[in-house]
Amino acid sequence: MSKKVWIDAGHGGKDPGATANGLQEKDIVLKLSQGIKKQLETEYEGIEVLMSRSTDVFLELSERTAAANKAGADILVSIHCNAAGGSGGFETFRFTNAMPASAALQISLHREIMAALNPYRVTNRGQKSANLHMVRESKMPAVLTENLFVDVSNDAGLLKRQEVLDALIQGHVTGIANHLGLKKKEEAAVSKNERDINVVSSWAATAWKAMTEQGYVDGSRPGAPITREEIAVMLSRFINNQQK
Ligand SMILES: [Zn+2]
Repeated sequence: MSKKVWIDAGHGGKDPGATANGLQEKDIVLKLSQGIKKQLETEYEGIEVLMSRSTDVFLELSERTAAANKAGADILVSIHCNAAGGSGGFETFRFTNAMPASAALQISLHREIMAALNPYRVTNRGQKSANLHMVRESKMPAVLTENLFVDVSNDAGLLKRQEVLDALIQGHVTGIANHLGLKKKEEAAVSKNERDINVVSSWAATAWKAMTEQGYVDGSRPGAPITREEIAVMLSRFINNQQK
């Protein structure tokens, strides 16, 4: 069963959100949202990421939650940047009367995003609750992230660096994956990297050829596991050869 994650990039189109220092909130949150979708779907199995918007278009808040509820998303994360906030920093919001799963999602997201931001000395403004439409009207566990302040010069400087956007994306991805218990694709793909059992390893080629010529093995499937009866046959051939 695939998990459905709804990523809601705030604002868009005629609504730029917060603007300052040459930054527009709507552009930053779209980049973050696209990055989160791409990384989640590339790195994890059993996941489908749906978006309120994947381009620069305007949507009412009610359209966003209606679409997420209709899609039956398992969780919703609304992505924003902040403004008018003194010293800047990162904070997250759940609904004031949030279900326990929303609080759990908030803990996971907040922890992982702050960890990813660790090299950049971002202020941790904490895990908060508020009566916001996106977290109130979503039927599934929902959290809104406020990703730094466009009007605080230090934060704005960070938001202009791709490595900081990548850290924010990584934090969201790990927080979501941990909350949903997603499995990394590498774990499932290991079998694809396994050896071909019909091809002898180079380090064993000489011995394999010699043992085949002497009849201890029949030369087939050099990489296959061996059974107790096969060992018994090989040992008996060895003993017979010694007695000749
Ligand atoms: Zn916003």
